[in-house]
Order: sequence, then structure tokens, then C-alpha cells
Amino acid sequence: PNYIEGLMAGKLSNKDAAQEAPLSKKGKQQLFEVLNGGLHKIDVPKNELNNYIRSHSYFDYLRNTLGVDDPGVLKMARHSALDWAVSGTDLMNIETAKSCGALGFVPKAVYDEENPYIYHFPDGNASVARALVKKMIPAVAEGKNAEELVLSKFNYRELDRFSNDVRIRLNSTVVNVRHIGDPKNSSEVFVKYITDNKSHEIKAENVVMACYNMMIPHIVSDLPEEQASALRLQSKSPLQYSSVGLRNWKAMKEMEIGMAMSPGNMHQAVFMDFPVSMGGYEYTKTPKDPCVIQMISCPYGETVGAPRLEQYREARYKMLSLQFKDYEEEIRSHLSGMLPKKLFDFNKDVESITVNRWAHGYTVSGPNNSIKKGRQPFGRITIANCDSAGSADVKDAINMASRAVNELG
Ligand SMILES: Cc1cc2nc3c(=O)[nH]c(=O)nc-3n(C[C@H](O)[C@H](O)[C@H](O)COP(=O)(O)OP(=O)(O)OC[C@H]3O[C@@H](n4cnc5c(N)ncnc54)[C@H](O)[C@@H]3O)c2cc1C
Repeated sequence: PNYIEGLMAGKLSNKDAAQEAPLSKKGKQQLFEVLNGGLHKIDVPKNELNNYIRSHSYFDYLRNTLGVDDPGVLKMARHSALDWAVSGTDLMNIETAKSCGALGFVPKAVYDEENPYIYHFPDGNASVARALVKKMIPAVAEGKNAEELVLSKFNYRELDRFSNDVRIRLNSTVVNVRHIGDPKNSSEVFVKYITDNKSHEIKAENVVMACYNMMIPHIVSDLPEEQASALRLQSKSPLQYSSVGLRNWKAMKEMEIGMAMSPGNMHQAVFMDFPVSMGGYEYTKTPKDPCVIQMISCPYGETVGAPRLEQYREARYKMLSLQFKDYEEEIRSHLSGMLPKKLFDFNKDVESITVNRWAHGYTVSGPNNSIKKGRQPFGRITIANCDSAGSADVKDAINMASRAVNELG
């Protein structure tokens, strides 16, 4: 799909790509049809085309317009959009599939001048959280700016000092929040949390709930039913990232791979990490040096076209049931199948594998006005989290936090 800004498209012709795909003879022919496809294949009057692509599914286009029935091609197509719309392409209309460069629609070069997808800390969004903590609790670490914080050691003992203006208590799961008296004119809120298997209760003047919105009805016990129902409609998709430490990346260099789409595998994409060097952290310099490659898996349910939330539930359980050895086996066969044997030997070239799984990863917003209804202030409690914006984006999370704090008055 339209994924990494500035990355050049593959050089293979449609014919060669179809021939080289691990498909049956019929599958190769159908893949060739799909790769040569496009809106020009849809036989409707020009003035009806926009309506048509909004009201017809991408799978309808594949099956009925292009006549695809090969399971291998349909599987490739289903997995060709990664996390673009937080679902497989089986749940997309033609317009969305086209916009994200799903199989058969040429990916567009994307570069959003105002918001380019190129700024990354070496440790991802963790550095954003570290910078915020440093601002609130200056004694926690050395370092005046983001650069200096990259490799700075954080002293966790500073987080919860009595003398701090802000205290952060880790490993403390809040299980109940309720107003003392009538929420409309209550002056305090009870917060109960568990730490070290012990339950504690504190009183607070105000509370910002910054956790997953769909959990709030389970925690805030006196929430009005209409608001609780709206919060229950918010959701998150499962996601899985595997980071593979390579002793060298000669094979990736020789094959000229910046990113490889692998729509038949568990990890639908494999790519070189973003070339970030900052604050003493150095990105790999030459193909002889070690580096980390990223493998992304957006798990879907088995049943093509099943409702989104059902697919998440099924995929989540399946993902969590896998063991490390399952991932290792999958990554071994994926990379060994993708890279030439003379350039890549899994046993020699792979130093490490780290698997991160988010059973509830990207925010998926609920229908209609459920987001706004759900996030409204309730007595002395306000509601933050990126779920309140319906978007899996750290900027939106910060905006929602700012709104929730201001709503406290
Ligand atoms: C795999 C992945 C990749 C992403 N990539 C990007 C990206 O490239 N760019 C981008 O902008 N965004 C990205 N996002 C989205 C971004 O990470 C989120 O939008 C952002 O972290 C949301 O921040 P938040 O503070 O709203 O919530 P969260 O970061 O989810 O924080 C909620 C916190 O509440 C805590 N919590 C939950 N329940 C309780 C409880 N009962 N008691 C106490 N604490 C509790 C949790 O432990 C957590 O620390 C990505 C998300 C994922 C999952």
C-alpha cells in the first residue's frame, strides 16, 4: 500500500510479478488480471463511477468485475492494505481500496508536507512519554531536550516522591472510581487501585480517565447508562510487530529491499527500520553492520467479510494463543523464503527476535456520535485517551488529554 513516504516502487513488470508469485497457473493469470486492473475495468457510465466505487466492495470488484476466484489471489488481495483502514480489504469499498493502494491499484507516492511520516525516535513513541515525564518530574533524568533524553537513564525512584509536584505510581491498576455523594455536586472522588496484590483507596478532587475508553464503564461505577453504552462501542484492533536483529543486512541491500509486502504471510510487511540517528544513538552505517528489521502483522479473522469486531475478537484470541516458537518458525520460513540462500542464513544471520503483541492496538471509533457522547465530563471525572478522538495517533492523544484537563475547570 501507500506506506513509506519516498520509498520507490518495485521494478518488476506486472507479467513478471504474476509469473514469480507462488500461485497455481490459474492464480498467476488472475493475478496478472488484477495487476492490470483499475477503475477503467468497471463498466458503468462515467458520471456514476464515483457513486459506484463508494457503494461497491473491493471484493465485489475482484470477484465480479475481474472474475477472480483463485483463493491464493484473494488471500493476497485481502492482506494487501496492512493497517491502512484497520481491517482486511474484504471490508473496504473500492474507493478506500484504491486510496490505500490495495492489490491492483498502483500505490501513490505519498508525502504529506505538513505531517510527513518520517519523524521517529529510536524507541518510538516511548521517547514522547519520557520527555513528558521529564518535564513534570525534572529530577528523574539528565537531559535538557529530546536529543539528550534518547540515551538518558531514568531513575524510577524519583517518580513517586512525596515532595514532587507530580507523582507517578507505576504498576497500580485502577479498579474503581466513584463520586462521594451525588456526582452533580460532589466535591471528591474515590479511586481504588491494586498494587502488589493489595488494594488501596485514595480521595481525589478531580480524576482524568486516560485509559481505553471501552474499559471505563467497568471502572467508573456510577456512570449514566447512556454514556456507558457509548463508551462500550469504542474498540481497538489487534496488532503485532516483530523486530528481528540481523548481524548484517547484506541480503536486504543486494536485493534492494526497503520494504517487502508479503500478503501471504503472517507478517504482511517487512522493512528496514527508519534511519534515525540522534542523541548518541546511531543507525547502522553499512550492510556489513548489524541492524533491526521490522515485520508487521495485522491479524484478521478467518472468515472473509465477517464483521470487523468479530474479526478482531477471533484474531486476538488466535494471536495470544501462539507461542514464541511459532513466531520464530514463521519468521525463519518467511525470511529464508524471501531472501536468496547464498546471501542469507537464518541460523547465522539472525541475532535476536522480539515479538510485541497488542491485543488492543489501534483505536477504532464507534458509530455515529458515540465518541462525543462517551467522552463527555461526568461530575468531577473527565475522559482523555486517543479513543476520545477515535484515532490511533499520539497528537490526538495529547489533544484529548489537554481537553480533558481543561474540562476540569
Ligand atoms: C503498534 C502501535 C503503533 C503505533 N504507531 C503510532 C505512530 O507511529 N504514530 C502515532 O502517532 N501513533 C501511533 N500509535 C498510536 C499511539 O501509540 C496512541 O495513539 C497513543 O499511545 C495513545 O496515548 P494515550 O495516552 O491516549 O493512551 P495509551 O498510550 O494507551 O495509555 C493509556 C495508559 O493507561 C494505562 N491504563 C489502562 N488501564 C488502566 C487502569 N485501569 N489503571 C491504571 N492505568 C491504566 C495503560 O497502562 C497505559 O499506560 C501506535 C499504536 C500502536 C498500538
